[in-house]
Amino acid sequence: MLMAEYQHHLIDARNATRQVTYRCPACHEVVCLHRGHQVAPYFAHRPQTACWSGGEGETAEHVTGKRQLALFFRPWGPTSFERVLPTIQQRADVWGARTPRPVALEFQCSPLAVDQVAARTAGYRQLGIPVIWLLGRRYARQRLNWRLIERYARWLPRWGLCLLFWDVADQCLRVKHHLQQDALGQYLGWVSRVPTLRAFLAGQPRTFHPRPLNLARVRHNWSLALLRGAAPLRPIQEQLYGLHHHLIQFPTVLASNQATPPIFGRGVLLWRILVGAWLFAAGPRVTPAQLQRWGWQALQLVGGQATAVQFSARPAVALALHALLTDLERTGYLRRATGGWVVQQQPQWVTDS
Ligand SMILES: [Zn+2]
Repeated sequence: MLMAEYQHHLIDARNATRQVTYRCPACHEVVCLHRGHQVAPYFAHRPQTACWSGGEGETAEHVTGKRQLALFFRPWGPTSFERVLPTIQQRADVWGARTPRPVALEFQCSPLAVDQVAARTAGYRQLGIPVIWLLGRRYARQRLNWRLIERYARWLPRWGLCLLFWDVADQCLRVKHHLQQDALGQYLGWVSRVPTLRAFLAGQPRTFHPRPLNLARVRHNWSLALLRGAAPLRPIQEQLYGLHHHLIQFPTVLASNQATPPIFGRGVLLWRILVGAWLFAAGPRVTPAQLQRWGWQALQLVGGQATAVQFSARPAVALALHALLTDLERTGYLRRATGGWVVQQQPQWVTDS
């Protein structure tokens, strides 16, 4: 940590001397001043001290990053380090005294379990304080993946669903933004270097234009995967067998190249095939409640995710349902009726593939 107590005052490690006994502002245990040639000065608890405020062991990246972040977010108002919040037993890495509402910044350089990210985010929410998670180098090196998105992705105006990284070497914010998945489940997004808070607030609107799907290739790849006994496709295939269908023969009308928020596991195409198969097997009348239920069941079967720490999957599932129903209505397979939908004709499952 950068700040410690001495005679009821907070002292910055930069201004500390070794001759004095400093204490942790949270647990009030004695802390040691570390200053060396490699790392900027910081305080640390002695080994085996269990401090309630958590926080990570200081690294050069974390110590330096906090100072840089305090400067970067300075235009919002005075910034300070390691604000102790006793009611939620947390300590914010950097605190921005923004008006009307302050903001907490968490600079995360080490791994953190999803429960802990959720608990800390909920703590701030309880106090009505927005928290911004900024990720360090080890996270920036990772390929986009669900573990990262689940913990740290959030919606921001003009950035869409995004992840924020702080690059200590470059002293710069990097935003991976408009995170989404193509219809086959591949993660997509843009990376932008953001030099100032003003640029961060301005955002970078983007529109994604997905490429058309090569359905013959999709069918071919899935048939190979099924031959190999690919575990992810098996539960989907079992569901379709139960309806006397085969996955690779899915009706073309169920296909879509739409991009979605990145919650659909192996992609919205598989999801649409399942929902479509259930819908046409259940007809002639289907209710919104049935559609909802199938939407969530299909999400599970395609390895999708209903919850993340900082956003909900609910709107994405609702949008995907809306898109599917609109496509089926436009092509004459469904008709809107009071209390739901009516099947007009059964789609053809492709036999020649
Ligand atoms: Zn402590």
